[in-house]
Amino acid sequence: MNAPARALHDTPRSDWTRAEIAALFALPFPELMFRAASVHRAHFDPTQVQTSTLLSVKTGGCPEDCGYCSQSSKYETGVKASKLMAVDAVLADARAAKAAGASRFCMGAAWRSPKDKDLDQVCAMVEGVKALGMETCVTLGMLTSGQAARLKQAGLDYYNHNLDTSPEYYSEIVTTRSYQDRLDTLEAVRDAGIHVCCGGIVGMGESANDRVGLIHALATLPTHPESVPINALVQIEGTPQGLATPLDPIDFVRMIAVARITMPKSMVRLSAGREEMSQETQAMCFLAGANSIFCGPKLLTTPNPLADADRQLFEKLGLSPMPLP
Ligand code: SF4
Repeated sequence: MNAPARALHDTPRSDWTRAEIAALFALPFPELMFRAASVHRAHFDPTQVQTSTLLSVKTGGCPEDCGYCSQSSKYETGVKASKLMAVDAVLADARAAKAAGASRFCMGAAWRSPKDKDLDQVCAMVEGVKALGMETCVTLGMLTSGQAARLKQAGLDYYNHNLDTSPEYYSEIVTTRSYQDRLDTLEAVRDAGIHVCCGGIVGMGESANDRVGLIHALATLPTHPESVPINALVQIEGTPQGLATPLDPIDFVRMIAVARITMPKSMVRLSAGREEMSQETQAMCFLAGANSIFCGPKLLTTPNPLADADRQLFEKLGLSPMPLP
């Protein structure tokens, strides 16, 4: 049985080879879409899409140099650094997100890694959001095992930490932390018993081979991330020029489809870049197996389609928000 056909036979594999993944990307588009949609409906209701809300609880002033990021202090992007938000203010936002239909509330802080004092405050946020009956996710930078254990104790469901791109292309994008640093954080999170949210970004000048490399890095983790955000780069003024490259929507849809086939049980999240995406492209992403989106007017610091636009799109496509498990 060839590799793509084997992918339909369900059990998540962590032994994908780059050649197998490249073969999936190279499939004729209708064949790729059919296979991805088949895998999708074997594991999920294809009419349901999870909606999450992302709040920046500590914005800007980050010492890291991720070339795509508006919050790095290395670039003049106009984003003002702010302090960690008060717990009450975060919980008010979480209540509003819940009322708007979000089932998961994600909180992001622009840190290299959290300080212990700040982690106490984040743990209080996690406890408060949990008490509202929502799933919780945070992204705080690199974590030690001890910090991961504290977050788990506070009730954290998911930790987001992306691999961004392939191991070979990574140093073109970030120099202040290594690929291995990222893998170490993912391991600490996994060992603490927290679900992993980990994906990457396309449209950063990477080659087709780098896209294969990113999927390979994700799909060969010992356990697949439960959530795999696939982002399209949103070019931020002030970040390194020339990083953004025009992204063919069909290439983006292929990325979603290959993520779906190689990580059959993961939530594949259509993340940053939806603001610039046509409804048709988003619809193709849902056909290709994307089953999670971010809702709300902002994704950390970049614009995102308003909840109304998403409601209309869902209605048009006959999709409904996924209820909490
Ligand atoms: S670590 Fe996060 S907040 Fe900091 S520059 Fe990188 S992506 Fe931006």
